[in-house]
Amino acid sequence: MFSGTLKTLKGVGDKTYEKINRLGLYTIGDCISNYPRGYVDRSVVKPLSDFKDGEYGTVHGIVQSFNLAGRYGGAKGLFKVQIVDSSMKAEVVFFNAKYLGDQFTVGQECYFYGQVKVSGRKRTLFHPEFIDFHHKDKDHFLGIKPIYNLTKGVSLNEVIKIQRQALGFVTADIQETLPNDVLLKHQLIPIDVALKNIHFPESEEGLLLAKRRLAYEELFKLQLALFALKRKAGDVEGTVIEAIEVNDVLTSLPFELTNAQKSVVEEIKKDMAARKGMNRLIQGDVGSGKTVVALLAMVMAAKRGYQSVLMAPTEILAEQHYQFVQQYAEAFGVLLLTGSTKKKKAVYEKIASGEAKIIIGTHALIQDQVIYDKLGLVVTDEQHRFGVRQRNALVKKGEMANVLIMSATPIPRTLSLILYGDVDISIINERPKGRKEIKTHYVKPEKRESMYDFIRKSVKEGQQVYFVCPLVEESDILDLNSVETFYEDLSKRYAEFNVGILHGKMKPKAKEETMRLFSENKLQVLVATTVIEVGIDVPNATMMVINDADRFGLAQLHQLRGRVGRGDVQSYCFLLSDALGKVAVERIQTMCQSNDGFEIADKDLALRGPGEILGVRQHGIPELRIANLSQDQELLKEAQVDAKSIFETYSGDELKAYLNRYIGDVLKELTL
Ligand code: ADP
Ligand code: MG
Repeated sequence: MFSGTLKTLKGVGDKTYEKINRLGLYTIGDCISNYPRGYVDRSVVKPLSDFKDGEYGTVHGIVQSFNLAGRYGGAKGLFKVQIVDSSMKAEVVFFNAKYLGDQFTVGQECYFYGQVKVSGRKRTLFHPEFIDFHHKDKDHFLGIKPIYNLTKGVSLNEVIKIQRQALGFVTADIQETLPNDVLLKHQLIPIDVALKNIHFPESEEGLLLAKRRLAYEELFKLQLALFALKRKAGDVEGTVIEAIEVNDVLTSLPFELTNAQKSVVEEIKKDMAARKGMNRLIQGDVGSGKTVVALLAMVMAAKRGYQSVLMAPTEILAEQHYQFVQQYAEAFGVLLLTGSTKKKKAVYEKIASGEAKIIIGTHALIQDQVIYDKLGLVVTDEQHRFGVRQRNALVKKGEMANVLIMSATPIPRTLSLILYGDVDISIINERPKGRKEIKTHYVKPEKRESMYDFIRKSVKEGQQVYFVCPLVEESDILDLNSVETFYEDLSKRYAEFNVGILHGKMKPKAKEETMRLFSENKLQVLVATTVIEVGIDVPNATMMVINDADRFGLAQLHQLRGRVGRGDVQSYCFLLSDALGKVAVERIQTMCQSNDGFEIADKDLALRGPGEILGVRQHGIPELRIANLSQDQELLKEAQVDAKSIFETYSGDELKAYLNRYIGDVLKELTL
């Protein structure tokens, strides 16, 4: 539909065509689905005296006089227009706009839209948009104006002109894209009305109805796609690993499993013994003890003669897992394979021969040279760090492996159940016994000295501290400098302690060495970037200072903070920030008030939008453009109910036809 080229439109010559191509616009259809990224509502005309300072709105004024003035009175020109409306006078100011001299006449009636500055009795509009009262486009001017993405050399008005023509192709007889019963059930407006109103809203209400209809459509189709994905996954047969006890390992652990851990272990046992392959996501807050669950699953596989791999996103973390697992499962042949592993050949051989039953490592595990022997279980830790593709590469190495994903990025409960349609979910919602809540404080600049003193005192008593700096991009040289400067400062400040530094630009060997020293308490103070975010476990570290806390997402702050509070001594997290914006403050408050990863994730979603949290894109499922997963959760639930009933009502060819009709284009892209 609408595959006609934009070249056929008025005012679109070769040059313009090429320019708008840069916006991804080639056909009429491209324009129709090029939704505005915002709107300007110029429909509210108000008397000047009603404006509050800084408010936007439309003024209906009469030109009293105009003149070029000020320091810029020369060639460029500061152009001022004095106007009056029914309530009072105002001045309209344009910079570098000598050319406007021709456009006004005294006594002319105009509409001006823009921001109004109020200062005492004075009203000023800077650079408003305006139109003559008698202009033929007056009605458009006074409507709700769409704002589109732009590219160099194309003005908003040009894009609007093209969009308006493209929308002319949308008529009442175009094909409806949602089933009729769904439209009726939710009282959604037809597709043609929705499209017209999303681009050129007739009214505020028209825009709201259009948004609702299109948001529902996105969510419904997302749900259909997720159910389709789940079915695809459900058809896969898995290696059957019959249930087996692991009491020997359990009794050798220095602690007893929490009830939450026990029940996840039982779920895994059942999953692996079933004919259908396991595809399970374990969501557990930082420090909830996911690693030991992985250990037990791998031991079960090993006892039945199957190999397992555990893939971690960093070498440090892989190393740490290796050390933990090695302690309790040595008898099964535990191997570490990372980029810096020496004598890889020998390692490959032990893997291929099946001598090693439990293999732990990084991306190195998915290299072509690695050939597994009876791979029965694939575990990935901190799943959000891997693309689905990497996970799959690993899964493909086993004939029909069981998959276990461990994630500490809590997705809000309501959402995860709906969105991770393709996996089963276990939640570890219980912290190991005896853990104290971490106390989190926002430290104002004037309180920093006493914080440093407090830390000194605690370190003297034998505890350790992390100082974390944001390093958004590992290639960010500026940020790297700031970490090093910070390190030097702290080395001086805490001359009586051993201070270490850790960042992503260091050689793996040096990183490991630093981590080792810190975990053996040979370093008491560690200055680090977010490389320490994942996994590292040093129970004796009870304090963390996070610099520029406003530069981190909430979920990430929570993840970082999870590095402390791992022993039985009271732990602290100190947040430093110079940003005083409303959102920054709100985020910091959230962190100080809550220790619950799920609650924080909810907040994060509301403050930041779903963005990268979901990663649904990696499955080939299109992005949501209108729907907002944080605000539209009710709609999402309804969409899920509807989609589910489709899968219950139809089957076989009928279902195929239905899916093809409504999500045909998406189906082609779906991957698992
Ligand atoms: P995460 O879920 O963040 O990966 P880990 O698996 O690293 O957490 O566990 C955090 C710490 O808690 C580790 O030192 C681990 O040995 C310990 N731990 C795990 N389970 C328990 C438990 N049931 N009781 C006490 N300590 C536990
Ligand atoms: Mg972990």
